[in-house]
Amino acid sequence: MSELHALFGGTFDPIHYGHLRPVEALAQQVELKRVTLLPNNVPPHRPQPEASAAQRVDMLRCAIKQQPLFEIDTRELQRDTPSWTVTTLEALRAERGNQQPLGFIIGQDSLLTVAKWHRWQALLSLCHLLVCKRPGYAANMDSPEMQRWLEQHLTHDVRQLHQRSAGCIWLAETPLYDISATEIRQRRHQNQPCDDLLPAAVIAYIDHAGLYRD
Ligand code: ATP
Repeated sequence: MSELHALFGGTFDPIHYGHLRPVEALAQQVELKRVTLLPNNVPPHRPQPEASAAQRVDMLRCAIKQQPLFEIDTRELQRDTPSWTVTTLEALRAERGNQQPLGFIIGQDSLLTVAKWHRWQALLSLCHLLVCKRPGYAANMDSPEMQRWLEQHLTHDVRQLHQRSAGCIWLAETPLYDISATEIRQRRHQNQPCDDLLPAAVIAYIDHAGLYRD
């Protein structure tokens, strides 16, 4: 059987410890050897990230240097459509077949809004959802239907994530990091330090590129 592989999508404007640390803890818990970072494409009619796509990828590279757990896949940046997770997962399934266990990592805030995702009902036929805790977000879904959906798919047995190729939800016991990219951008605009919020190499890149300045 092939190894569980996980993907982690985000805008990463910029990547920060609220992304990295919980995912590192999750990887230990569920025995993940590889996590693929998937930077999103934000189509022209939507509010744009402050950093360009190339800069967001550069910041990912800075963050994962000497971190063998992570790799980067820029496929979503090569399309000019919105980044639909379900479409990306279908493409990966076409490449890797239906046997490979695949996990898609999200924070608790994303789990709570999963019913707004494009074709969200198809997600669990393509992957497991691996959910990291995020402070400030409810533990329960906001409707009885969605709570039932969560409970139907919830597993507490890590072997399920390796033995099945998709279909489970895992609520990981990950450390809480009260950090958002929005807060980092705001702090930079106000000339406040961000030292504990993201890796030094990413801060150095931001400084050098003159990002998040007015
Ligand atoms: P922004 O503030 O610009 O909206 P963000 O910090 O929420 O950005 P994203 O790139 O939008 O970061 O998030 C990508 C994924 O990472 C999402 O699934 C989100 O739930 C998760 N995530 C982001 N920050 C945290 C955090 N502090 N703890 C846990 N998960 C997080």
